[in-house]
Amino acid sequence: MYIFDLQIANYRNYGRAALRLDKGISLFVGDNAQGKSNLLEAIYLLSTLRSSRASSDADLVRRDLIHTDFPVARLSCQVERSAGNLQLEVAVVGRTTDASHRAGKRVRVNGVPKRASDAVGQLAAVLFTTLDIEIVAGPPLLRRRYLDMMISQVDRGYLRAMQRYARVLQQRNGLLKRVQSRDAQAAELGFWDQELAHAGGIIMQARAEALGHLCPQAQFQMERLSDGLESIQMTYRPALGGLDELDVPIDETEWTARMLKALTNLRYREVNAGATLVGPHRDDVTVEIDNLPADSFASRAQQRTAALSMRIAEASFLRKALGDDPVVLLDDVLSELDARRRRGVMEFFDSFQQTIVTTAEPDRVRDVMTRASGRFVVAAGAITRFEGE
Ligand code: ATP
Ligand code: MG
Repeated sequence: MYIFDLQIANYRNYGRAALRLDKGISLFVGDNAQGKSNLLEAIYLLSTLRSSRASSDADLVRRDLIHTDFPVARLSCQVERSAGNLQLEVAVVGRTTDASHRAGKRVRVNGVPKRASDAVGQLAAVLFTTLDIEIVAGPPLLRRRYLDMMISQVDRGYLRAMQRYARVLQQRNGLLKRVQSRDAQAAELGFWDQELAHAGGIIMQARAEALGHLCPQAQFQMERLSDGLESIQMTYRPALGGLDELDVPIDETEWTARMLKALTNLRYREVNAGATLVGPHRDDVTVEIDNLPADSFASRAQQRTAALSMRIAEASFLRKALGDDPVVLLDDVLSELDARRRRGVMEFFDSFQQTIVTTAEPDRVRDVMTRASGRFVVAAGAITRFEGE
């Protein structure tokens, strides 16, 4: 798929911007703090309905508007897809004083209002940023998010299970605390155990299955990018309190059964802790480079190549699951790569319909510049097209 029309209003440092995009590479050049990352964040938000970095919706609205009666940022795009063309509109309403306007996101798909959870992944996208090294070197939360953002785009059932899981987890933790303080009976946990294990089973099954595709892909990409010198190994570590032996693939029912068993085994400890200690909210994926844990042994450059391989694997996962290409967003990542790795990345994405690239250092990506189908300058939240070099 590819985006051929993009409109932005009052989003971050943008007033109003309207763009026609083509297939192939679109390159956005600009100095620091001009709006390059904001642009890719906007596109990624149209895809996932979540910001890749903001903590609240209000941050997304142009700051001059935030104290007006109806602070709202608007994004819309038109996409050509093999599953049929798409028009997507998102309005992000910041804090309001007016009770008739709720803060939050309003979404329309082909003109029809939709819940955000039903619009996720209508536009599929994969976002590369300079912070991606953290999926290799950072805490487990970031690797869970890596899986969640990817799987949610292709599996509505996964997203629903995630939402249900989060609600049930909160209820169950509340109950554990009440059992601890003897304001509730331990027997009441049974119902919540079932609910949690059911949603948890769906999540763990989908994560295991996704990793089945991602691991060999990341492995292949890592070898390719490092000229066969380095290898990466990703391993799913479901948090099941010791019941995580995975010699043979297991199905959703078995995941649920294991989780239920883990909850039963740990009940005493969970009541003491007043918190749920097992389940997908505690899962991890370990990443090893050349058979050593990547966070504590690998060099920065190796971690960066590993992260790059994981993102490329993500793009390949989305393509396979959708039977269509996701839009590839590369935020300032090419300029930090050496020429060989850069070539390796671009070669992979040559077969994708659309790649949107930003850079603050166009001189370092001349090769990309010459092949771009569209070139733009970003300056102070305004975008202009330019021809030639
Ligand atoms: P770099 O090359 O350093 O990565 P960039 O071009 O990617 O820069 P952005 O991250 O897109 O820059 O940010 C551009 C500017 O947007 C920043 O100066 C930031 O202060 C501003 N900005 C962020 N949120 C808002 C907002 N809600 N309203 C107005 N301006 C904002
Ligand atoms: Mg940036």
